[in-house]
Amino acid sequence: MQQLVDEINERARAKFGTGRVADYIPALAEQNANKFGIAVCTNDGQVYAAGDARDAFSVQSIAKVFLLTLSLRVYQDTLWERVGLNPSGMPFNSLTQLEAERGKPRNPFINAGAIVVADRLVSAFATPSKHIRDVARRLSGNESILIDARVLESEWQHRSRNAAMAYLMKAFGNIDNDVDQVLHSYFSCCSLAMSCVDLAIALNYLAADGHAQAMGEQFIAADLARRINSIMFTCGMYDAAGDFAYRVGLPAKSGVGGGIIAIVPGKMTVCAWSPALDENGNSVAAQYALELLANEMGCEFGR
Ligand code: GLN
Repeated sequence: MQQLVDEINERARAKFGTGRVADYIPALAEQNANKFGIAVCTNDGQVYAAGDARDAFSVQSIAKVFLLTLSLRVYQDTLWERVGLNPSGMPFNSLTQLEAERGKPRNPFINAGAIVVADRLVSAFATPSKHIRDVARRLSGNESILIDARVLESEWQHRSRNAAMAYLMKAFGNIDNDVDQVLHSYFSCCSLAMSCVDLAIALNYLAADGHAQAMGEQFIAADLARRINSIMFTCGMYDAAGDFAYRVGLPAKSGVGGGIIAIVPGKMTVCAWSPALDENGNSVAAQYALELLANEMGCEFGR
């Protein structure tokens, strides 16, 4: 496995120069595009890493997996009264469906859906962002994980579009709490800074029937892990979920920081990261790396 991740690290770097770093906020636009890291965490606790796998980066939409997991733990299936379960066929920050569908977002992995999920957590916890940061620390076994204050401030300064979604959903009665408080919690989670190694370990519960290895305990029920994987498979890669399913065949979630976490159920998690994105907002080199790995290992969802 170490040989494989080393080889993927070499080959994925050939993609440098393709794609563009996210530029909707200054804090992300400054990232070095010529970075690549990959980390594998097997269900028996082995970690294999290569390249810049220990550099912390902005998790961005990968945080939507933490938000969803924590919210499902509290609300179970009643969460689905607030947010749907189907691919949107629209960009992750689209407003058009929200109006037509009376403020109920298509799924928890587009921005509007994650904002609704964040609202549920604001109702459940006194300090939701601190709670999520602490859970990220315990799941990864890394006590030094932080919310990047510069990224958070940048998100806040450029919040207009996400604020528009939140207010529209509030008008439809689908946000219970103060919009600023909900957005602040959502942005705080997006601004978590974690490495490929941190994320591969932290999200291994999705590969291990809900068992979190760094915590040494059952974090969520096995059937919940299976369901989250299914939503990742259908909705985790924005508009390109179908393409990614065809090319890689694994449940995955990407973020505009350039990270992608992929789950090989029953076996391992893989996190790849490289900041330059394609037109859908998915990292070019990280997608390529996961394709190489899936081809090499012959792994696919449910096998
Ligand atoms: N913070 C970003 C936003 O809200 C997250 C989007 C993403 O990673 N797709 O726009």
